[in-house]
Amino acid sequence: MPGLALTVLGCSGSYAAAGQACSGYLVRSSRTTIWVDCGPGTLGNLQQHVQLDEIDAIIVSHHHPDHCAELPVVYNAYKYFTGLSEMRVITTSDVRRVTDAFHPLGDSGDLFLWEIVSDGSTAHVGDIDIRFSQTDHPVETLAMRLKSGNDSIVYTSDTGSNWSISDLGSEPDIVVGEGTLLEINDDASIPHISCAHLAQEANKAGAKRLVVTHVPPGSDPSQHLEEAAAVFEGKVELAVTGRSFSTTG
Ligand SMILES: [Zn+2]
Repeated sequence: MPGLALTVLGCSGSYAAAGQACSGYLVRSSRTTIWVDCGPGTLGNLQQHVQLDEIDAIIVSHHHPDHCAELPVVYNAYKYFTGLSEMRVITTSDVRRVTDAFHPLGDSGDLFLWEIVSDGSTAHVGDIDIRFSQTDHPVETLAMRLKSGNDSIVYTSDTGSNWSISDLGSEPDIVVGEGTLLEINDDASIPHISCAHLAQEANKAGAKRLVVTHVPPGSDPSQHLEEAAAVFEGKVELAVTGRSFSTTG
């Protein structure tokens, strides 16, 4: 496929709604496949799109369980069932720490090739370049811009209002952004943003398209979409498990 495509493996915010999965995305170019965030439930959904041995690298944005807790199970799948001897995992030091805690010897480095990144780090997987920016969240959390050729996708992961999408440059083709809150229940003590704030940020960065994700169970997704659409100047869509979004339209 030309450009970059992102497929939603799960998008429930904080915990999974009935029959759903937490955060996880497949990002693909014509020759590279990256799994971004391993929220609970995403391993099963991933295999509806690709085989495990087709993954070139895993990137995990932060060590909140709704974004990383499947990783020890992913270890089992690779270690004992695929025959692969290694898998690149690009993430924060805390994600490694919590994953290692599940390992019988306390070190999952016998399978996972850990690449610890932080604010401003870059990584390269096949023909996709990744740049990270630390967001406003209670633990070290890395938003990222994934770029292949002239096409790019920004994923905000989780953030409060003191982080800017523009920190990852301008004019991304697609922003996949957390819209956990509605303006009416936005509160500075909650480390997430409203859909209106997300849309303002996406406008400032000159994003062409916006995909609203991380809507928590119990909240009406159509209200989140409506709030973002009232502010964003481009096309707004909702993340839905199984749906794909491509930079080529
Ligand atoms: Zn979080």
